[in-house]
Amino acid sequence: MTQSGNIQELRDKFGRVHNYLRISLIEKCNLRCSYCMPAEGIPLSPKAHLMSADEVLEFARIFVGLGVNKIRLTGGEPLLRKDIGVILEGLSKMPVDLSITTNGLLMDRHVDNFQKLGIKKINFSLDTLKEERFQQLTRRTGFQKTLDNFELLHNKDFDLKINTVLIKGINDDELVDLVNMTKDYKVSVRFIEFMPFDGNSWDRSKMVSEKEVLDQLGAHFGAERIASLPNEDNFTARKFKIAGYKGDFGIISSVTNPFCGSCNRIRLTANGRIKNCLFSNQETDLLAAMRAGENVENLILESILNKKAVRAGMDSMEKLSDPALHSDNRSMIAIGG
Ligand code: SAM
Ligand code: SF4
Repeated sequence: MTQSGNIQELRDKFGRVHNYLRISLIEKCNLRCSYCMPAEGIPLSPKAHLMSADEVLEFARIFVGLGVNKIRLTGGEPLLRKDIGVILEGLSKMPVDLSITTNGLLMDRHVDNFQKLGIKKINFSLDTLKEERFQQLTRRTGFQKTLDNFELLHNKDFDLKINTVLIKGINDDELVDLVNMTKDYKVSVRFIEFMPFDGNSWDRSKMVSEKEVLDQLGAHFGAERIASLPNEDNFTARKFKIAGYKGDFGIISSVTNPFCGSCNRIRLTANGRIKNCLFSNQETDLLAAMRAGENVENLILESILNKKAVRAGMDSMEKLSDPALHSDNRSMIAIGG
């Protein structure tokens, strides 16, 4: 941990300050998205190995003490946790920018609580606007409920982003339809490149690159109508807007064009392990350490100092495409995207 003035911060060997923590609350999900998990499911941690609500809040306090000021909850499906209300309430009292990533299916049950606690930022995962395709991709039903809940959040003025994982030959024919949602909805649609993880049948040819997205949209809308927006700090999405539309869209190209240089992200898995990079299989068991009364701060610092410059050392497409490297990691459902 380094000191800048009196403020503690988590700075790595490359000078990147880590102020953004993504906490996975659960390994289970009510969907079975094919890009996220194998059809047969994943081995689940025993319940006793998962963080309790109190432990989640204790970790959050520790990270805030180390300079974290942004927390995103994810999973699995975070809204499946029975004690989500306790966790949200505790986190909402901390000095952090709090947000959640959800598939939205259970959002109607929680919307009032989100409003009450003033949590406005929601990333809503939606890969298709076609019901049959939704069922193929998620291996579950629930399409209409998902759309209804999106509408509900939009009407209640939440700060919404849509996450769409693009897979060639599966949903890349919906690019225009998804961007058209930004015409009337003040929403940011983010196209995420399909990333390789254990058991998700990734191969390079299934990815849709940034260039292909822009070419396809340019052909439909006219390149002159697509304006490039300025990058935000620690950006993960290059953003664009169609002239006259209310919302905007972005491209998250972690594979073909990674944004590791400005990475500020740390991940904590539902079983309390810190991951210094989405692509890293190096984990440190913070939960066991906390339960044993050990110094968790030092372990966090050590993990950050071990962070590699680019994608956990997979610094070329060749390395990233090697299943021996990318499959030696958890499935996304157990990391928390
Ligand atoms: N269940 C919640 C949801 O779907 O929003 C939160 C967890 S999910 C793992 C978080 C995000 O990871 C989702 O937006 C999902 O689309 C994304 N994701 C999962 N697997 C991915 C992959 N192989 N490549 C890119 N993004 C992926
Ligand atoms: Fe569940 Fe989200 Fe993974 Fe889909 S992407 S299986 S909704 S955790």
